[in-house]
Amino acid sequence: MRHILRSFYLSLFGTFKKPNPGVHILNSHYVTPDFSEESDWLIFEGFVKYLSKHCKLITIQEATQLIAKRQFQQKECLVALTFDDGFEECYTTIAPLLEKYNCYATFFINTNYIESNEKYQQQFHNRIKTWTKKPMTWKQVKELHKRGHVIGSHTLDHANLFELAESEIEYQILENKRILEEKLNYNCIYFAWTFGQLQHFPEEALNCALKYHKYIFSGTNYKQYFSMNDTVINRRHIEAFWPKSHINYFLSVHKK
Ligand SMILES: [Zn+2]
Repeated sequence: MRHILRSFYLSLFGTFKKPNPGVHILNSHYVTPDFSEESDWLIFEGFVKYLSKHCKLITIQEATQLIAKRQFQQKECLVALTFDDGFEECYTTIAPLLEKYNCYATFFINTNYIESNEKYQQQFHNRIKTWTKKPMTWKQVKELHKRGHVIGSHTLDHANLFELAESEIEYQILENKRILEEKLNYNCIYFAWTFGQLQHFPEEALNCALKYHKYIFSGTNYKQYFSMNDTVINRRHIEAFWPKSHINYFLSVHKK
């Protein structure tokens, strides 16, 4: 019931809203919860076209620089896209369509999920409550990186960091960064923690992530640019298949 009311509210008010100037970093995972090659292609192209029409799509480098320098007074609605968890459709659908519109995204990857076996995938999918997806291969991740997309770190196994001991938290954060850097031969400076809410990110995790990455991202508090004493940049959760009125609603916020 709460869900239906929320959806009704967003549709009603989102219909009359327009994206407002500001710097938005969006956080998505896939095109639709159930993959369908043909309709997903159309849905995602519709999403990119819609964003291109009402906003200017920018890279994570551009977005983080503007936000870090507190250049919030923008003439346009600027949007950077990020996708978490490393599903196969990032490579097969999302990246090719973004490139068609001259846009580059950031993919936050859990390296143990990439090319994992079925048993591991089952456990991973249970943790994220998404059961219809497959991971990318290393070849696909490497290609996205080569083509100009950014690969960020999302911990090794997608655990809830709040449930782990300090040594396990460090291992989840550092080992994932180490593997990414070894495989892609670059410096991994972007980190997004798992599940995205503030209660999923204990202080030990924040301190560790800050020590080894330049930018840390949440998936909450989107009306404000920062959380946790300005150490964390907030992202807004939006999926490509959501109604345009809902997307409108979230992009119409006057961010602070
Ligand atoms: Zn995730």
